[in-house]
Amino acid sequence: MDHLYQDCTVLHVDADGFFAGVEQALNPALRGKPVVTGAERGIIAAASYEAKALGVRRGLQLHEARRLCPGLVVLPSDYEAYSLYSQRLFAILRRFTPNVEEYSIDEAFADLTGCGRALGLPLEDLAAELRRSVSRELGLTVSVGVSLTKTLAKLCSKFRKPDGQTILRREHVPLLLRRTAVAKVWGLGPASVARLESLGVATAHDFAGLDAARVLKLLHKPGYETWREVQGQRVFRIDPEPKRRYDSLMKGHTFSPPDTDPRLIFAEALRNMAAAFAKLRRHRHLARELGLGLRLKDYTGRAASAALPHLTSHDGDAAATLRALFEGLFEPGRVYRATHVWLGRLTPERLRQPDLFEETPARHGHTQLDAAVDRLNGRYGQGTVRPAALLDLALKPWHPRDAPPGRQATRLPGETGRRLALPRVTLANPV
Ligand SMILES: [Mg+2]
Repeated sequence: MDHLYQDCTVLHVDADGFFAGVEQALNPALRGKPVVTGAERGIIAAASYEAKALGVRRGLQLHEARRLCPGLVVLPSDYEAYSLYSQRLFAILRRFTPNVEEYSIDEAFADLTGCGRALGLPLEDLAAELRRSVSRELGLTVSVGVSLTKTLAKLCSKFRKPDGQTILRREHVPLLLRRTAVAKVWGLGPASVARLESLGVATAHDFAGLDAARVLKLLHKPGYETWREVQGQRVFRIDPEPKRRYDSLMKGHTFSPPDTDPRLIFAEALRNMAAAFAKLRRHRHLARELGLGLRLKDYTGRAASAALPHLTSHDGDAAATLRALFEGLFEPGRVYRATHVWLGRLTPERLRQPDLFEETPARHGHTQLDAAVDRLNGRYGQGTVRPAALLDLALKPWHPRDAPPGRQATRLPGETGRRLALPRVTLANPV
């Protein structure tokens, strides 16, 4: 137990309307305006608080959003900028404690146990200082909750949003629970909530008041753990280790307008595969399975997967498999709007069994080539070096949604060597 914070040591920070907030931070002219991202998909990915106030929500179709809010500023997603801001947000949080769990791109938990003496700040001041630093350095607002458990801290960060903070000590837990609908409790899915509500459990306080045996019977172990957390018993640990092991990995892309041209649709699939392999190599894994999904204009679709010839992280080893999957799935004359590719049966590189074919000159060459391509793309932007078959992406008619993010040609303050105006380099077609 911390001498200053006692058992109130779990902090949750959640950025407010994160993607839209980053856009507003990058372009101050957008501050105070209703801003949404997701132009490239036609569906809102994130909305600023000004847009939310007018009823614009994530997941809404753009044309509906424009109807609700005629002056809406619609931007394409710029995930590269969002992930940079995300890393900076977490770096600021790590000034307070090294025990930070990056929960999602714009949310983190932190464990403050043992930090009271070093920081010497009451929790209220600590949360305020965190919010001030983020606002001053990144131009973003965040909401902060501090309480006894992850589940309570998450309720707290939602309690006053945007730009708010809630510190909930043990003696005040019931007050918050009474004001929280059971559906808002983190970790209870719609089926659990429906079951609880049908029994008259309306608030988190009602839920906390159930007896243990009943909760176990109704909701099994996961629901029971959430029930303990809501009562202030710490079950879920803060895990500062970044995720190191993956079972599968997927990359998908929706294009606009939908199209029938097999060369374009295959190029779209190939681009997703290249992105998936680049990520696989970044995480130092190898794949043994490749999957492909093609989605039609009406959102129905077909998918299939196949084994790869061997464990690999090299695109070239998978090209023939992708082609075969594509030929099995593609139906001429139909109108497609999206493709996705996934890599399955993953193994961390360090666990690979050496095999007889281990160090063939060809494989050694692939490894060096991949490393060089990854370095160039990491430095100059994704797609700087890419397979020649991706030139078919140019078959797609230009659409306003293709406009690149405004920031793409410029660097963020403090950034070096990203997105420079380098001529495109093309490698031989691997397919
Ligand atoms: Mg958020």
